[in-house]
Amino acid sequence: MPILKTFCSICNPHSHCGINARVEHGELLSVEGTPEHPANQGTLCSKGAASRQYVYAKNRIKYPMIQRGERGSKNWKRISWEEAFSVIASRLTGIRNQYGAESAVFFAGYPKWYRPFLQRLAIAFGSPNFCTESSTCNSSPTVAAKVTYGYFGAPDLPRTRCLLAWSSNPFYTNATLARHLLDHKERGMKIIAVDPRVSAFAEKADIHLQLRPGTDGALAMGMIKVLIEEGLYDRPFVEQWTVGFDELSNYVEELSLEWAEAMTGVPMAKIEEAARLYGSTKPASLMTSASPTTHHINGFQNHRALVLLPGLTGNFDVPGGNYVEPHTYIHNWSGAPTNEEKVRLVDRLKDLPPRVGEDRFPVWCRYYDPEGQSMMIPFQIRSGKPYPLKAFIGFGANYRMWPGSDFLKESLLSLDFLVNADIFFTDTCQFMDLVLPAATSFERSELKHWNSKYLMLTSPIIKPVGESRSDFDIVCGIAKHLGMGELFWNGDFDAAVDELMAPSGYTAKELRKYPAGTPVRNPLKPGYKKYEKTGFPTPSRKMEITSTVLKEAGFDALPLYRAPQYLDPSSNASSFPLILNTGSRLPMFIHSEMHNVPWCQGLRKDPLLDMNPADASDRGLGQDDWVWLETPRAKIRVKANLTETVLPGVVHMFHSIPEADVNLLIEPDYLDPISGFPGFKSLRCQVRKE
Ligand code: SF4
Repeated sequence: MPILKTFCSICNPHSHCGINARVEHGELLSVEGTPEHPANQGTLCSKGAASRQYVYAKNRIKYPMIQRGERGSKNWKRISWEEAFSVIASRLTGIRNQYGAESAVFFAGYPKWYRPFLQRLAIAFGSPNFCTESSTCNSSPTVAAKVTYGYFGAPDLPRTRCLLAWSSNPFYTNATLARHLLDHKERGMKIIAVDPRVSAFAEKADIHLQLRPGTDGALAMGMIKVLIEEGLYDRPFVEQWTVGFDELSNYVEELSLEWAEAMTGVPMAKIEEAARLYGSTKPASLMTSASPTTHHINGFQNHRALVLLPGLTGNFDVPGGNYVEPHTYIHNWSGAPTNEEKVRLVDRLKDLPPRVGEDRFPVWCRYYDPEGQSMMIPFQIRSGKPYPLKAFIGFGANYRMWPGSDFLKESLLSLDFLVNADIFFTDTCQFMDLVLPAATSFERSELKHWNSKYLMLTSPIIKPVGESRSDFDIVCGIAKHLGMGELFWNGDFDAAVDELMAPSGYTAKELRKYPAGTPVRNPLKPGYKKYEKTGFPTPSRKMEITSTVLKEAGFDALPLYRAPQYLDPSSNASSFPLILNTGSRLPMFIHSEMHNVPWCQGLRKDPLLDMNPADASDRGLGQDDWVWLETPRAKIRVKANLTETVLPGVVHMFHSIPEADVNLLIEPDYLDPISGFPGFKSLRCQVRKE
């Protein structure tokens, strides 16, 4: 039986493992990792290994369907693609004529591969409102780094001698990276892990700083104090390339390590030990994650404080430090430049009205991609200000992503028109007017760039389930019915690839000669210390310890530490004495995905709440007792899991558990004032026996 090549795109774009697929008569029989693929070298995680069950899951959407009667009534009628596109085009045109194109929101959830095309559709239609799940994932750290340095770099792992891993658990979130980290540890790389939990990765660290949720800024300032007082910072770099060092120095002088210990719960001696190891080992690098440091309502400035560390220690844009490479395509940096921004039509945005959330989160909106801040969708729907929203065109949208998920659902239900394209018939699809069946990576063509300087353009390797189509085809179908077919390459994916890849000299025809992918020919080599030639891309052309942009927007220019809201004496401390830490995911799921796949679902039985045995004992709780997890907003039924991996006073729950939606517990407006990120990881709660 021939082996066909493709890749798994179930999880985040930095993974995406090469797959060898056995296919018979157009049906996927089994999968294995591709041994020669640079991303995964033959391995697959539990999700990828379950690909056959994923593709043929019972709840696949097979046909376009329209809901007759009331939303949620399950009165679905199968329609043709032609009819679906006609309905969408005519409803969107009517809404544009009546309210303006900006009243349509185009939303992208998971996966991410079609985002440039969906943004092109939004902007070509006339709406600035391309919104994505990045409104709660990765964008806040990105913007925090951008206002500080203008750009940021990933850790140069093969060369680093000390890795400061700040709230990152790649064993659960990035399987391909996790293996490499263990290899580097074996060759002698030191690991400092910062994590409120004893995660699978923190367990492997040389030093684990187990801080209270939301106190990252205090820990960072404690470490900076040690670095400055013990002369472990890079004085020449600081003098020549930073602004605001004196203010920072004066600030930490006022703080004590006793204060840092009291705030974070991390013993002073450990803060000193970690700062000395990070500050004296050259080169050292900082590895952060998509959101844990910023899922707090003081998270943006906390993250700003910790990203000062690479610059202060001379580890920014140097070999083995945080090495800046320009991204080439959908958050990856393959070294093969693309026309992604041009394809997204972002230059037309200046002629369109402001995006959702731009009035409340101007710094985030200015520096992120550009997109609308999705957290503001329900508020703008309800207020109609600065203009009304009337239509929601989703791709992989999941309403449970929002804090106060019921609030978003109720808001969406008041809109005139709701569409979701998805692989599965999710509970978000249930209340749409129209659902469209999207194809998996096995059933479509996809262009992929890997950081390992590798490219792949896949072809469908199996027959599509039902009438499912590639997201690209769906976008182009809508565009064609809106009279914009030519702008969308008349639906020819290879023509779109040709336009995207033109700057690197690749064509779709050439890439299709390498079904298993190909190393990038002459990848860009941006070199180190780029700021020495051009300055930093910030207003001062320097690393901005004190940020010009934040100051102008009315925020603290220096990342002054503000304690998490749960420490505020007025925050119901006696009724809700515990700290709820959520928003992280289990390795066999990716957010709300894979719960419908038997192999993955079989690895989890009940919705578990991790709690320290001391807190359980105070409440008379035992292992596996059913309890109510409660906040002032709502309560959910979960099972107590007694574990020392969480600190006393802190409870932890993984998110996106279908039968226990932890996001219901969070107020929709519990948001960081700069980024709009929800405080998923630090809010007051109580646990009571059922
Ligand atoms: S889900 Fe697993 S197999 Fe698939 S890309 Fe992610 S890490 Fe690889």
